[in-house]
Amino acid sequence: MQKLLQNREDAAPAVAFEVAPRRSLRAGKPISRAPILSAASFARTAGSVPKSILDVGNARFVTSGRMAIGLALLQMNIGAGDTVLLPAYHSLSMIPPVLWRGARPVFYKVGPDTALDLVDLATKLDASTRAIMVTHYFGFPQDMVPIRAFCDAHALLLLEDCAHCFFGEHAGQPVGSFGDYAVASSMKFFPVYEGGCLVSARNRLDTVALHSAGLGFEAKVALAGLEQSFAHGRLGLLRAALWLPLALKSALWRSIKALRPALPALTPSSSDSTAEFDAYWVDKRSSRFSRLLLTHVSHTRIVAVRRARFRQLAQALDGLPGCRPLFASLPDGVCPWLFPLLVDDADAIFAQMVRTGVPVVRFAEQLWPGVDASVCPNSAMLSRKVLSFPCHQELTDDEFDLMISIIKDGLQR
Ligand SMILES: *Cc1c(COP(=O)(O)O)cnc(C)c1O
Repeated sequence: MQKLLQNREDAAPAVAFEVAPRRSLRAGKPISRAPILSAASFARTAGSVPKSILDVGNARFVTSGRMAIGLALLQMNIGAGDTVLLPAYHSLSMIPPVLWRGARPVFYKVGPDTALDLVDLATKLDASTRAIMVTHYFGFPQDMVPIRAFCDAHALLLLEDCAHCFFGEHAGQPVGSFGDYAVASSMKFFPVYEGGCLVSARNRLDTVALHSAGLGFEAKVALAGLEQSFAHGRLGLLRAALWLPLALKSALWRSIKALRPALPALTPSSSDSTAEFDAYWVDKRSSRFSRLLLTHVSHTRIVAVRRARFRQLAQALDGLPGCRPLFASLPDGVCPWLFPLLVDDADAIFAQMVRTGVPVVRFAEQLWPGVDASVCPNSAMLSRKVLSFPCHQELTDDEFDLMISIIKDGLQR
């Protein structure tokens, strides 16, 4: 926030003052891209409990979405000689699990609105095709009924990628219930440091045993979550109470590291990198801390706040030059991950957002080597032009209003 403030004050002090009174700003605190734990995380919110991937059926909790993909492919018995179809518009983290199984990734096209292209998909099938991965981008479900029928007609296994879609309903069913398997990434929706899940409405998931990653992992996950929260000025009382133990822990950790610089990582790199895949974590259970938070934070609040923030962003950015929302409306049953905006001059605006401290996300900024406009023009376009802004449940009103005013400023000039 310091960065935000400084830049704002240099440029237009009066405006900065007007949109966000000084007393309510948390000087020095950046606005978080992803949810962070706060007391409000547990607040009871009126309304019915929303459907989520946890309603699908059997579930296993691992440390990330990509580990859940690895586990799903293992359960499907995918291996050397098999082909897995993936969308050309993707997260880099989706491909290494396929390569880990020894299978071949082949990319299919999506439309300009991210909808899977069934006609193109049909042209990509051959005798080696075993499974298809389908991504519900930004929380908006794909049209799953025809996709399920296509998979049945061709005896293909369907893996629903709900990394952007932990919550939601489609055609009267929870997301994740159309696939033979579905995966989700807990970090994108919950204030947790690690977590992903594999669910299935159709198959048992007990073929592969999950193991504990140890006490060091459990401790580090809990501390990392709290430290992220403190860094954004949340949970102040707890921070005061934990100041001494945390300081001791840091000192101890530094001295251990000084003695043994090659200490193995306690937590998976998926918690802070975009594509890395360390198969060690495929059969490691998510921490107790993350699993507890998944069930104890308010699901009703997550969905209600995200939907409200999404609408506020749509309204605030409506009609600004050189941009339009990727999704024109927010249908019932959708819980957005981010607010994606198609921007004509995306590179310049992206640089401007980064400079002014706006927590902008560029999903699929990089595509897997070889995936370019010749494979799928729409994926290349979306990868370049879509800039996304957080709408998560842990943004305060002040943070959100300030973020919107800076985005508007950036887009108007
Ligand atoms: C983030 C993401 C994943 C992987 O989730 P992680 O928890 O980061 O491993 C998979 N698919 C998509 C579309 C994603 O955006």
